[in-house]
Amino acid sequence: ERMTSAQLRTAFLEYFRKHAHEVVHSSALVPANDPTLLFTNAGMVPFKEVFLGREDRGYVRAASSQRCVRAGGKHNDLENVGYTARHHTFFEMLGNFSFGDYFKRDAIHYAWDFLTEVVGLPAESLWVTVYEEDDEAAQIWLEEIGIDPQRFRRIGAHDNFWSMGDTGPCGPCSEIFYDHGPDVPGGPPGSEDQDGDRYIEVWNLVFMQYDRDSEGNLNPLPSPSIDTGMGLERLAAVVQGVHDNYETDLFVPLIEAAGNIAGISDPKNPSLKVVADHIRACSFLIVDGVLPSTEGRGYVLRRIIRRAIRHGYQLGIDEPFFYRLVEPLESIMGDSHSELSQRREFVEKILYQEEKRFRETLEDGLDMLDDYLARTDSGIIDGEVVFKLYDTHGFPVDLTADIARERGLEVDHDGFERRMAEQRERARAASRFGGPREEVIDAGESRFTGYSNLADVGRIIGIYREG
Ligand code: ATP
Ligand code: MG
Ligand code: MG
Ligand code: MG
Repeated sequence: ERMTSAQLRTAFLEYFRKHAHEVVHSSALVPANDPTLLFTNAGMVPFKEVFLGREDRGYVRAASSQRCVRAGGKHNDLENVGYTARHHTFFEMLGNFSFGDYFKRDAIHYAWDFLTEVVGLPAESLWVTVYEEDDEAAQIWLEEIGIDPQRFRRIGAHDNFWSMGDTGPCGPCSEIFYDHGPDVPGGPPGSEDQDGDRYIEVWNLVFMQYDRDSEGNLNPLPSPSIDTGMGLERLAAVVQGVHDNYETDLFVPLIEAAGNIAGISDPKNPSLKVVADHIRACSFLIVDGVLPSTEGRGYVLRRIIRRAIRHGYQLGIDEPFFYRLVEPLESIMGDSHSELSQRREFVEKILYQEEKRFRETLEDGLDMLDDYLARTDSGIIDGEVVFKLYDTHGFPVDLTADIARERGLEVDHDGFERRMAEQRERARAASRFGGPREEVIDAGESRFTGYSNLADVGRIIGIYREG
């Protein structure tokens, strides 16, 4: 009778409903009217204006299970996927929020009560950190909750001062970790040994006190607030008695479905995990209005899709397959995120088109790379090769870097950037002299410079013309 992820989600929302919180449905992954942010990367994002005192929702407490993507911008976990047990590009963040209502004391008591009483986790397995200067939070944990000082740490700003982005609401935080036990390598929070993940951060309680402006100044918020975030996948792993999020009920059916297509039965195969991660991110990005394209959000989506396709190819799958994982995903998530059920066929269609197209150049690109690697032993993939893979075969740089990492190689990023600059210069010269126009693709992942609905409409029309 271990709780399922669906039960955990419900238990969380019901707990906070009982404590006078308004339960709010997840917002989209594309933040509304916020050009500073690539994707919704935390549960607080849809409430940003409320925290800043610029919007009044008629309630001062809220709880949600917000879908999040961390694959670009300030929070980017793309490179962690497949390498840690706890990071996804897409995940759900359970959160409770106070807009100038309760503050540190209640936030800490609620979190502790939920984990130990509702979910029933043993106190001995939980560790707590606070920001090193936050005596108030330390006192609540040590004296009111009675946490064992052995499992309590004061930590610096790097981990215990949370910000949504370079500007916006922020503040000191307090984090709760679960100790998965001595069988897993890794040191406790704050220790030097950060290589393993025995101690997994489960819940972050942010004491939102400031608004950081573009000059970096911390301006006090109109009233101190609470923003918390707990990864549903990590909580599910703890509750379901597994260390690896990919062994929870949120992932197992996806890994099985991909394994069935590939004819691979080992669920620990890293490519299966990557594919299972990426189908969640890609499906929900499309559900929320992003389409594969050559820039901005659409290019992030394209990069994730192409990585997944390449991993599928690596698994020996020789025809479009990625879209076939939308159905099992809908079985897992459709009830709690009904938008996915409503747009399933559309999502499948976009993923199918993108895969069909990329498969036309993928194999040649990989062959070219193999030829090159057979001729060199420098340990570095030359910028010229990276550029050719990009320009001729549609390999985003991070895809080439992903392959390089698997093989213990590096990518010559500077050389690639030089080629890109040259190409841009050629295109500029060509248009100056009225010559044929070359399409210049912005490969930068962080060069997101805003977003306009018009551009997006253009992109949507574009994809239909192509497809
Ligand atoms: P970590 O240190 O493990 O990377 P974080 O400190 O970056 O996590 P927060 O920004 O504090 O994470 O987000 C709040 C919570 O969201 C985390 O405590 C964790 O449970 C969850 N979370 C964060 N990033 C991810 C991710 N990439 N995949 C799954 N869950 C995540
Ligand atoms: Mg992180
Ligand atoms: Mg952390
Ligand atoms: Mg954290």
